Amino acid sequence: MERMAQLDVRSKLAILADAAKYDASCASSGTSKRKSDKGGKGLGSTEGMGICHAYAPDGRCISLLKILLTNSCIFDCHYCINRKSSNVRRARFTPEEVVDLTLSFYRRNYIEGLFLSSGIIASSNYTMEQIVRVAKLLREEHDFRGYIHLKTIPDADPELVHQAGLYADRVSINVELPTVAGLTRLAPEKSAPQIEGAMQDVRTAIDDGTDAKKRYKSAPRYAPAGQSTQMIVGADAATDGDIIGRAAGLYGRFNLRRVYYSAFSPIPDASAVLPLQRPPLMREHRLYQSDWLMRFYDYQPGEVAAAADATTGMLPLDIDPKLAWALKFRDRFPVDVNRAPREALLRVPGLGVKAVDAILATRRWRRLRLADVTRLTASVAKVRPFLIAEDWRPVTLADKAELRPLVAPKREQLELFAA
Ligand code: SF4
Repeated sequence: MERMAQLDVRSKLAILADAAKYDASCASSGTSKRKSDKGGKGLGSTEGMGICHAYAPDGRCISLLKILLTNSCIFDCHYCINRKSSNVRRARFTPEEVVDLTLSFYRRNYIEGLFLSSGIIASSNYTMEQIVRVAKLLREEHDFRGYIHLKTIPDADPELVHQAGLYADRVSINVELPTVAGLTRLAPEKSAPQIEGAMQDVRTAIDDGTDAKKRYKSAPRYAPAGQSTQMIVGADAATDGDIIGRAAGLYGRFNLRRVYYSAFSPIPDASAVLPLQRPPLMREHRLYQSDWLMRFYDYQPGEVAAAADATTGMLPLDIDPKLAWALKFRDRFPVDVNRAPREALLRVPGLGVKAVDAILATRRWRRLRLADVTRLTASVAKVRPFLIAEDWRPVTLADKAELRPLVAPKREQLELFAA
């Protein structure tokens, strides 16, 4: 602690911004519109341009002011670089220092807001109080109207977690591992029921807040950008099928805005219970794609899981899960672009939501030819075997075993993303 006190703010920032890069949940989305008045009242906005993001060397999008309050922690989660037994340089901000940094970075248009997490100092309640204090100072003393995302600590006093939602746009509680067995093994001080209990409390508060806002305009807003969580991928034996099932359960039970997937990164002085190698980054990408299918393409979790290999439970890395599903269920194709309902069109590999909406709009007044569909997709080779158009019917029938090599991307492309 003495050494920490001697660090200047710049040195602390170097340590605590670097320590925060392991958290993947950095996106700001879905919050309410809010901005400073024309008369100059208040500071910041959740709308508009000029907002900067940075990308970490591993390709993740990170907000420029994405920091930890401290990287000291009394817990010893095996996968975490900040765990008690880790031999890293420690630092700690005061809440006032975080507030000053946020305001000065915001004024320079470096950031769109603050993403604040923390190791656990002294106790969960004490740490949560410090996190809430940052948000309270920003909102109440500085009238800060930018975006705030707070990580909350599941075993802190529920009242403190509740307060976080009154100041933050988004709150998140990490489930950490996809399975309870994985959590017990790799984060023995954490409890799955406690994590899910806190998520349920936040869901109830968000629902109550939304309900109150409908009835009374003056009701306080509560985490308008909802709650999210993060799962570490590849640190335990969970398959992609397990992860998809867990994510679907979390979306359903806690009405989450997002589940983030973070490929496990080997850390210095790693515990012997961890794998030596990180999973391919492409695995993380495929899980995001499967998540997208559930949220925007009306796939049921079981359908997405069916795209995985039946023996290993893993999604293919060389093709996306939508294409994998289409190849496995070839009897559902070809789909007629001039007749099929929206849900059937959404299943066609290579057709995104916008393309499907454009097809539906166009066919109200004329029939579509293959050239019309070609203009709406990045890969006509991928789409062609799965659809019928006015002037097109696939001759390579969708149940031919040779179809996969024809529609899969070339291997060289995979290597661009491989770990
Ligand atoms: S509680 Fe959080 S910061 Fe502490 S060791 Fe576990 S994951 Fe790391």
